[in-house]
Amino acid sequence: MGKQSTGVKAQPEQPDSLQTNGVQASSQAPASSQAKAAQAQHHDPSLDLSSSSPAAPSPEKVPAKAWTIESSEELYRINGWGEPYFSINAAGHITVSPKGDRGGSLDLFELVNALKQRNLGLPLLIRFSDILQDRIERLNACFAKAIARYNYPGVYRGVFPTKCNQQRHLIEDLVRFGKPHQFGLEAGSKPELMIALAMLDTPGALVICNGYKDREYIETATLAQRLGHTPIIVLEQIEEVELAIEASRNLGIQPILGVRAKLSAKGIGRWGTSAGDRAKFGLTVPEIIKAVEQLKAAGMLDALQLLHFHIGSQISAISVVKDAIREASQIYVELAKLGANMKYLDVGGGLAVDYDGSKTNFHASKNYNMQNYANDVVAEIKEACEERNLIAPTLISESGRAIASHQSVLVFDVLGTSEVVSDPPEPAEEKEHLIIRNLYETYHAIAAENYQEAYHDAAQFKEEAVSLFGFGYLSLTERARAERLYWACCAKILEIVRQQDYVPDDLEDLEKIMASIYYVNLSVFQSAPDTWAIDQLFPIMPVHRLDEEPTRRATLADLTCDSDGKIDQFIDLWDVKSVLELHPLKRKSEVTPSAYEPYYLAMFLNGAYQEIMGNLHNLFGDTNAIHIKLTPKGYQIEHVVKGDTMKEVLGYVQYDSEDLIENIRRRSEQALQENRITLQEAQLLLQNYERSLSGYTYLSS
Ligand SMILES: *Cc1c(COP(=O)(O)O)cnc(C)c1O
Repeated sequence: MGKQSTGVKAQPEQPDSLQTNGVQASSQAPASSQAKAAQAQHHDPSLDLSSSSPAAPSPEKVPAKAWTIESSEELYRINGWGEPYFSINAAGHITVSPKGDRGGSLDLFELVNALKQRNLGLPLLIRFSDILQDRIERLNACFAKAIARYNYPGVYRGVFPTKCNQQRHLIEDLVRFGKPHQFGLEAGSKPELMIALAMLDTPGALVICNGYKDREYIETATLAQRLGHTPIIVLEQIEEVELAIEASRNLGIQPILGVRAKLSAKGIGRWGTSAGDRAKFGLTVPEIIKAVEQLKAAGMLDALQLLHFHIGSQISAISVVKDAIREASQIYVELAKLGANMKYLDVGGGLAVDYDGSKTNFHASKNYNMQNYANDVVAEIKEACEERNLIAPTLISESGRAIASHQSVLVFDVLGTSEVVSDPPEPAEEKEHLIIRNLYETYHAIAAENYQEAYHDAAQFKEEAVSLFGFGYLSLTERARAERLYWACCAKILEIVRQQDYVPDDLEDLEKIMASIYYVNLSVFQSAPDTWAIDQLFPIMPVHRLDEEPTRRATLADLTCDSDGKIDQFIDLWDVKSVLELHPLKRKSEVTPSAYEPYYLAMFLNGAYQEIMGNLHNLFGDTNAIHIKLTPKGYQIEHVVKGDTMKEVLGYVQYDSEDLIENIRRRSEQALQENRITLQEAQLLLQNYERSLSGYTYLSS
């Protein structure tokens, strides 16, 4: 089903918990041995909602078991990806426990309603600063536990890679929450260096300086030592060695240097090419040797203190992490042997997030937990250093995704739906065209024994109907009847397909073809660009009505006029699914049949990379963002960052809103004079135009 997976899902893991006692044994079976175990976890047919689509009632319907919130938990796998932060309460609403296992929670549905009353419209990005704090605590606790377990004679000093989320409020929180752990920042560019140097004020915390560097970058980073910072300049290109030597001579300050190694250990998945000899960044082993010689010749070899590697993001298999750390540990000890003053080992990013909660080496998951990761880092390096009698390095990780993902929740509303009409038309009075009679016959004959054959018949009759219409042998009304019958056949067949353990290849797309389309108040290009760019999966589910059976199966279409502006892959235990189970919209009243009760969906785990990579396609701007903190009495809104107004997004593409208004005013004036518009109409037009410019770029409901 769906796209190809890069791995087989299997391997259960222990939850990352701040409260587990005893450390779990580290690594797990290699990826290749997992296929069998996967069978055991394969799709539980009892979860199928087969008997329940009202769009396509089945004649021999089995009475459905009552739907409970536990049914929703299983369906949306919220315990898999959401623990310990997200769950479902008795009211059928999502609850957020921002402090994880440590108590306190709030009802997300009620929170959204309260925010709406404060004129904070959807889509709404809600950041829970307590979750951010919990992630930092968790990562540091895992390393502390691993260090204790292996008697590691060094310390851990993590840094946050700024590129994951550069928003000021978030970085401020991060620095504050990281203080007890001397948590630092990593910069991958000059502007990120500007952020790190100005925002970090934790004594002893590190500023890791990555990315392409010019003289100014290196000078600024070196001078920052004078401000009390500990900047480490990581040489990523061989040319940077000379720049660093020159800067040091000119300033009379010895920099702290590191080298980024191109490991030969292969990454996997989307970012697999971040490692290997042809990777974009880092020095090959011959280049590292050359850098050592250059530094030695300049009398600066003692400046070289750090070894860094980064084999890519979202490393889903622990075996890959282990291989990389093993190789890097050897390079580390060899550098020490060559006379470098080695003190730090920086294992980069890659610590993965379990987006689908399957605990496997699937690309949207990971087959290890944070504790396994910390254990492997600590154990491998300890062993390598002990063998050579080396002082154990300070350990650094640049975990971005694992820290920033969970704290953001994007809530958006459904504006409307489009569904396939799947009940057959009433039989006609007179004798119908043969093709229509054939379709009726096919429809009535569909059964578990012949559904595949029936599907091919129906498809062929429909094709013939279209072709007969083309030659003028079928009227438009007859063609409509034929098409409706075809869809009715498909719906009836789908009911049967859903009961089967095995779905024949030619029927695999049926679910997708028959899916409803839910139009959502959102631009994926702005709010979840990775779903579009790299098929990233984020968990998506309704925020409320979770005590009610979701009887529709749908794909999501966004507000942009782009056919890529959609989401049609969703997390599943087994691979991915092409439709998401959702509730039918409820009409507000009989009087205004087009008005619906609000229906909110939320996308989770999207706090890393999405915001800054989002773009202004169709000029949908930044969404409203709210920072929420738990208090003893409930919660507190810490910051409100209003989303872009139309005036602002138009400004980004060089329009002056005063000019635009003036233009419309002039044209209205002229239309008035030529009696093409009334004064009242002209006033309304201008009023709307001006109000829109200072309003939100999304639709208001
Ligand atoms: C992107 C990046 C990271 C962050 O990786 P995650 O997988 O998000 O933890 C860390 N270090 C470097 C050098 C990076 O480029």
